[in-house]
Amino acid sequence: MNELIGKCKCCCKEIYCLDGFFNGVHTEEKELYCFECHESLKVKNEKPQS
Ligand SMILES: [Zn+2]
Repeated sequence: MNELIGKCKCCCKEIYCLDGFFNGVHTEEKELYCFECHESLKVKNEKPQS
């Protein structure tokens, strides 16, 4: 069963729970992001090395 959880705060992609697997990220600030946007956020927040 696919359960709609909400929309990615960044790109408005719909985030589903697929058979218990959540295809997005729920941050501590209770914001929803898809994996793609969460990855790019992480990259932005992490200082690149070298
Ligand atoms: Zn997104």
